[in-house]
Order: sequence, then structure tokens, then C-alpha cells
Amino acid sequence: MRFYSPEYLLGLRKLCDEFNVLLILDEIATGFGRTGKLFAYEHANITPDILCLGKALTGGYISLAATLCTDKVAQGISQSPAGVFMHGPTFMGNPLACAAACASLDIINRNEWRSQVAAIEQQMHLELRDAITIASVKDVRVLGAVGVLEMTAPVNTALLQQQFVDLGVWVRPFANLIYIMPPYIITPAQLSQLTGAMKQVATKIALTDDMAEQQTTASFISHG
Ligand SMILES: *Cc1c(COP(=O)(O)O)cnc(C)c1O
Repeated sequence: MRFYSPEYLLGLRKLCDEFNVLLILDEIATGFGRTGKLFAYEHANITPDILCLGKALTGGYISLAATLCTDKVAQGISQSPAGVFMHGPTFMGNPLACAAACASLDIINRNEWRSQVAAIEQQMHLELRDAITIASVKDVRVLGAVGVLEMTAPVNTALLQQQFVDLGVWVRPFANLIYIMPPYIITPAQLSQLTGAMKQVATKIALTDDMAEQQTTASFISHG
């Protein structure tokens, strides 16, 4: 949930070229429009030597991943005594998964994601911006359809998840991150429910921290 700057990625690409090192980009989470570009590397105008894709490849409906590479890399890994590409997991090219991917890519190719992601980004900017005033929040980051509250400390994931469920949303915080990557078809009202819940939960943490600070007994803190 840290966003690279385009300049950093550009520098990385240059260094890889200079030292003849392959640049591998894992866009399993960021691919297919998530950051506002079809692939996040387009923000930096670079291309990788190897690209990892998954998740939205099938719209999340069935497990499928793809590893794309340049012709040069493909020729290298295909050079075997057998004369063909000698690699494959058991379920490679699974027909059902591929059918789901083709259907999902057809939808992606309709390009509706561009305006959907732009609208989600704008709404999350508007609704999460003021979360920075909550004491437990260290940083607010929004890029495309990714919304992140970076907290000042790791959160109690189990406790928070229950609080989110009580607010009618499913969010799983991770370490010091409360983040959402909503589906592109989410409605503005549904997105508001998510961002509202994120801010409510963050506020609750800030209040709890505040109360804990005012108490001197360690036992209270361990319960708080
Ligand atoms: C989900 C994810 C993975 C794991 O992908 P699987 O197909 O579940 O193995 C790897 N990298 C990133 C960035 C992810 O978001």
C-alpha cells in the first residue's frame, strides 16, 4: 500500500537496463485498471521484462494467474533440449478459468472501468481526505480505486474486523493499514458506507488511545 513515484520506477528501469537485470513487476493487485491506468507501470511510461497478473484477470471469480514476458525472456526460457517450453503447473490453461478470464477481459475492454475508477478515486479523495485529522491516522493515500488509511500503529485486526461487520461492511485491516479496493461497479452510496466505516473505526481507535493515555495502570491498557 505504498505507492511508487513514477520517477522511482523510471530510475529502476534505467538501472535494470544498465546492469542487464530483468525488471519484474507484480501487478497482481494493481493490474486491469485498479490505479487508473490499465497497468500501474503506465504511470511511469515503462515496461517490465516480466509481468505478473492475477486477481482481476478473472474479475476475482476463479483462480487464474498469468506471467507475461518479453520475446527475449520467452526465447530464453523456451530453450530446452525438448525444443519447447518445458514448464507448467497442473491446472495451467484451465478451460473454466480461461473462459472466466476471457469474459472478464471483454468487460475490461469495454473501457467502462476508466470512468468508474476515476469516479471512485474522486469520491475517496473527497471522503477520506479529512481522515488525516483523526489522531490515529498517519497518512491518507488514494490512487485510482485504492483507498488507504495508514495508522500510527498496528491495529487489532480481529477487533476491527468485528467493528466493520457491525457497520455493515467487510474490511480486513493489515498491520497498520486500513485499506479498500472496491469493485468498479460499487455505487456511490455503498462507497460512502465503506469510507464512513473506515473513519468511524479510526476515530474509535483514536478515542481508545486517548483513554489509555489517561490511565496509568498497565492492566487497563492491555484490555484497551
Ligand atoms: C494477491 C497477490 C499475490 C498472490 O497472488 P496469488 O495468485 O493468490 O498467488 C501476489 N502479489 C500481489 C501484489 C498480490 O496482491
